[in-house]
Amino acid sequence: TATSSGATPQESKTADRPDMHAILKTMRAAHKASPAPTYEERIASLDKLEAALLAHKEDIVRAISTDFGNRSRHESLVSEVFVVVGAIKHARDHLRDWMEPEGREVAWAFLPASAEVQMQPLGVVGIISPWNYPIQLGISPLVGALAAGNRVMIKPSELTPNSSEVLDQIVREVFKPDQVAVITGGPEVGEEFSKLPFDHLVFTGSTRVGKIVMRNASEHLTPVTLELGGKSPTIIGDDFAIEEAALRIIAGKAFNAGQTCIAPDYVFVPAKKVEAFIAGCKKAVAKLYPDIRRNEDYTTIVNERHFDRLRGYLDDAREKGARIIELADAESDRATRKMGPILVVQPGEDTVVMQEEIFGPILPILAYEDLDETIEYVNEHPRPLALYYFGYDQSQIDRVLERTTSGGVSINETMLHVAQDDLPFGGVGPSGMGHYHAHEGFVSFSKKKPVFYQSRLNARSLLLPPYGKAANMFFR
Ligand code: NAD
Repeated sequence: TATSSGATPQESKTADRPDMHAILKTMRAAHKASPAPTYEERIASLDKLEAALLAHKEDIVRAISTDFGNRSRHESLVSEVFVVVGAIKHARDHLRDWMEPEGREVAWAFLPASAEVQMQPLGVVGIISPWNYPIQLGISPLVGALAAGNRVMIKPSELTPNSSEVLDQIVREVFKPDQVAVITGGPEVGEEFSKLPFDHLVFTGSTRVGKIVMRNASEHLTPVTLELGGKSPTIIGDDFAIEEAALRIIAGKAFNAGQTCIAPDYVFVPAKKVEAFIAGCKKAVAKLYPDIRRNEDYTTIVNERHFDRLRGYLDDAREKGARIIELADAESDRATRKMGPILVVQPGEDTVVMQEEIFGPILPILAYEDLDETIEYVNEHPRPLALYYFGYDQSQIDRVLERTTSGGVSINETMLHVAQDDLPFGGVGPSGMGHYHAHEGFVSFSKKKPVFYQSRLNARSLLLPPYGKAANMFFR
């Protein structure tokens, strides 16, 4: 994907990269001149964004596939276009309600005054996004920020330069430069970007970089939403059909070849059902991906560094005595970076695969006897971004929900909570802070402004000296 000058798109962009400080300054001035876009203006922005995404959907599919080696067309359409268009539709349907000031109660002593909460645009919002869903994770926070009436600067990942080009093209087609802009570049650009005095900064990426970003943002007390990663546990209850659980878990794990922040990271299986679960996983892979190497439905690992990292996890687990089961024959195809789903049975706590977020198609299996063991394990580890439980016994479901804390949960499924337009999304502790998607996104990108209106009638009499015995009246 070299340009005519021989430079990669990333390099050629770097040379004429716009000055991010100047862009922010322009956006600030524009915000000052027009601080509250109307409902109609926001709807028009969302409409144009939706139309551009749909018009460019094949460009999106092509660009991401070029960046990855192969990215399933279906996965790109669903996770980068359909999901974002759903978020736009949802915002459009609810925007009038969301923008409406919310009347609040006034205590009797202040009547007949009134009070309300207004939702005010913050100003300029920064977005830093990762490579694994390069369009969705840039545009989805943009939708909430635009609905809330803000201007936005997006810094996408340097690992997916073709996707960044399409993102930039869409943004330029739809928005004026003082409304939305894309700034490309690697970690150094990210550093500089996260030090800008934004009114809010959304970072999606690793926990390690999240800490740097939060530290940088603290210089200006810029509030942050951190969408981070971690190891999302999956627990199969004793009462759930094991073969069906295997199918749903493999489907979640294999989507984007496991390169998903909320992918089921490892799975707890009732001890007596471990072999049946392994058999179920084999059957699921045979059914979903009869072939891996030439299968366009199966996404590649994004680059050699990540491919080697995953291979390293397997070597480490093998050396430490875990059983490795390849469910397809593509484990070692480094040239194409296709890695089929692989099970690691009973890896020890000392294995890298049980310490690091996997972010690839490797699924560790841990046998358990008693549900409380699994709850204890989860609670002894950093709070995860997602948790999955399979079972129909409501008391067991409630036990897991009450006793564990995670960013989100799907019951009897993996990952689908993120696709619900009306649910907020966000981590907890090391998996992140703050929420976006749905109404929560609108709220995160707004200043909730409490406003008190004194009545023409009330002369504040009870609050003015000389107080006399007035204070006692408050406690009657
Ligand atoms: P990453 O943290 O390496 O990079 C993310 C972004 O930060 C990129 O744009 C990168 O250029 C930028 N960056 C890198 N160093 C920086 C620095 N020092 N200062 C400022 N910005 C910097 O993450 P990644 O490898 O692109 O993505 C994978 C991670 O993202 C995984 O941990 C995954 O779980 C997480 N993730 C989370 C979500 C979520 O919604 N919670 C979604 C997708 C991915």
